[in-house]
Amino acid sequence: MARNFLKVKCGECGNEQKMFSHPSNDVTCLVCSEVIAHSTGGKADLHGSIVEELEVE
Ligand SMILES: [Zn+2]
Repeated sequence: MARNFLKVKCGECGNEQKMFSHPSNDVTCLVCSEVIAHSTGGKADLHGSIVEELEVE
């Protein structure tokens, strides 16, 4: 099963970072610490914008 990663742009500072599409914990921006994705137990509830979807085997 492929694991999906997203490149997400922070809505606060514009930083772009990669994250797992189904994170087990909330994902925070590495620059400004804003939460960019909430963990839901499934696909993340994104608060930033998706720049790119990456699929990794
Ligand atoms: Zn940020």
